[in-house]
Amino acid sequence: MPISLDDVRRQLAIANRILGNEGVIDAFGHASVRHPGNPNRYFLARSRSPLFVEPADILEFDLDSEPVRPLTVQPYGERVIHGEIYKARPDVNAVVHHHSGAVLPFCMTGVPLVPLFHLGATMGGTVPFWDQRDDFGDTNLLVIKPEEGASLARALGNNWTVLMRRHGATIAGTTLQEVVFRSINGCLNAEYQLRAMAIGTIGPLNAAEAHDAGAYNLQSRPMARAWEYWTLRLGERGIFPARKKTAAQRPARAAASRAKTKVAPRKKTAAKRGRKR
Ligand SMILES: [Zn+2]
Repeated sequence: MPISLDDVRRQLAIANRILGNEGVIDAFGHASVRHPGNPNRYFLARSRSPLFVEPADILEFDLDSEPVRPLTVQPYGERVIHGEIYKARPDVNAVVHHHSGAVLPFCMTGVPLVPLFHLGATMGGTVPFWDQRDDFGDTNLLVIKPEEGASLARALGNNWTVLMRRHGATIAGTTLQEVVFRSINGCLNAEYQLRAMAIGTIGPLNAAEAHDAGAYNLQSRPMARAWEYWTLRLGERGIFPARKKTAAQRPARAAASRAKTKVAPRKKTAAKRGRKR
């Protein structure tokens, strides 16, 4: 059965909150998913912190990152990252962009980020490094113009993760669950790499190990287990997005509201009358 667009919006809100809750993104960063019925469009939240994204915040864009409908809210400034990657990579159906502190030391130094353990392999055997100066000289380091997004997409190439000089990282996936899995475990790999470099000499997984371990992790069983873990953690914190009211729930709410209106209004206290003046 094809997934409904309401479900797409809800899943994307959940993905945003997971990434916020797991420390991949904070006030900034964003996740998107390609429209399941129209490959020339994608969904991305309005400009707000990912930890608070609601299904109703999700907007629809074309691949030039123009809104499909007139906006009454602010979109993310760096949305061209998503549109240009969807244009360049028909196999990509979900994108995450973040400025996680786990990867920033690599973005600042150019030290290669390499897969070091089985879950880290999901970020890909090779993580390219994008230096915006190569195409644009001095900039504000953000990716705002379509040509900047296209340059980043070229640097990503056929890989799944790209580091951005003094900025952050962008991650691609064939599904929303996959890109979340890759983003979280890529950040863990970066943290572990820093710690490992402090105590000894590191050696990356070889190409066969990175490929096989990465492919294993993306099977339905490990993916479902991880998704359950991350969503339960949202529930524990009480930040799992609320479900839309069903038709059965709405009349009850209306009746409760009608009953409320029968209660005689309270008389204003002297203090309240004073505040009005
Ligand atoms: Zn950014």
